[in-house]
Amino acid sequence: MTDSPVWHPFTQHATEPSPPRVTRTEGATIHTDRGPLIDAISSWWVITHGHRHPPIMDAIRATAERLDQVIFAGLTHDPAEDLARALVDLAPAGLTRVFYSDSGSTSVEVALKMALGFWKHTAPGRPRHRIAVLEGSYHGDTIGTMSVGERGVFNAAYDPLLFAVDRLPLGADTLAAFETVAASGELAALIVEPLVLGAGGMVMYPPELLAALRAVCDRHGVLLIADEVMTGWGRTGRLWACDHAGIAPDILCTSKGLTGGAIPLAATLATEAIFAAHWSEDRSRTFFHSSSYTANPIACAAGLANARIWQAEDMQARLDRVAAMQADRLEALAGDRRFANPRQTGTIAALDLRTEGAGYLAAAGQQLRARALDRGVFLRPLGSTVYVLPPYCISGDELDRVWGVVADFAG
Ligand SMILES: *Cc1c(COP(=O)(O)O)cnc(C)c1O
Repeated sequence: MTDSPVWHPFTQHATEPSPPRVTRTEGATIHTDRGPLIDAISSWWVITHGHRHPPIMDAIRATAERLDQVIFAGLTHDPAEDLARALVDLAPAGLTRVFYSDSGSTSVEVALKMALGFWKHTAPGRPRHRIAVLEGSYHGDTIGTMSVGERGVFNAAYDPLLFAVDRLPLGADTLAAFETVAASGELAALIVEPLVLGAGGMVMYPPELLAALRAVCDRHGVLLIADEVMTGWGRTGRLWACDHAGIAPDILCTSKGLTGGAIPLAATLATEAIFAAHWSEDRSRTFFHSSSYTANPIACAAGLANARIWQAEDMQARLDRVAAMQADRLEALAGDRRFANPRQTGTIAALDLRTEGAGYLAAAGQQLRARALDRGVFLRPLGSTVYVLPPYCISGDELDRVWGVVADFAG
């Protein structure tokens, strides 16, 4: 037993050593009481530009001089209004409405509620309520988001509370399976992580499949929800993963990189049709959702500072630089028989350790994590899947040190 009262996320306190204590962050570095660490996974995929990116910290500081949390029902403020306009400007075409919340999970819960509300209000006689999902997906850790995510060791204890969904295999059969399910006329929505299934093991699929799923949705009137919580803000090499496929979803979820990762905020973007379905003299058609911290002004100001960077700076060049560096490092390990399935989408690179025990609880990944820590690198393999998902400010030398740890790992 440890002395600390803190119960850490996804942490088995009986077996894991006590963690280093973080004292300061800067760029791609996390400084701790045991020395500096290179943040090779962007602090669980949130940090985009780098830790404490100056314009974002400036916006937080300036806004805190005049605003803190204010109720967002019956009141509004500039940071929320300005960020919403910027998001509509940056998002795939047709997403014209912005609903704020405070985490990726809540942005997905909001998306599911919007989809069911849409059908309840537009087809009251026979509202659609089923949700289709891709096998291996992750959408959060609340009851609703676990329901639409992959079932396994993570959520076995809660399974009796999870609602049923239609699961589509990911691969050659995806489209045919989706056609069949969609033709039932009972699907409210399909929810996907576009191009990269993150927590499911950095499983990647081509933009063509995403575009084809959009087409099936259109044919059968099924709403498409893109959970861009991880893939958004450049991770896949474009601002949105949907941009690779040239498609727009009906609902888009964003969080993680929305504030550059500095402070919690989420938004669920919807089409005019979905907003219009809730627009009525009849108050029972109100969208009944709120978080206490909806549209926190300081968080919105951080989001706006981030959005301005995407509007004004050559982010594409930065993403291309990281993608090219990642490709080089991955290429160097391509023929190495200790690793399988090297893969990359934009700034995200992954490969699998060839070990006996597969699955999330595989020991090799844990060993690699410990080895990396000893060498000043923070990695967190997903079972036997090793991935590097760095902030975009990472240098070539830092990336070499990260991949050096992976290359030296005997398994
Ligand atoms: C991280 C993640 C979530 C959940 O976000 P939280 O902020 O942790 O609640 C949802 N969907 C995807 C795809 C994610 O990667």
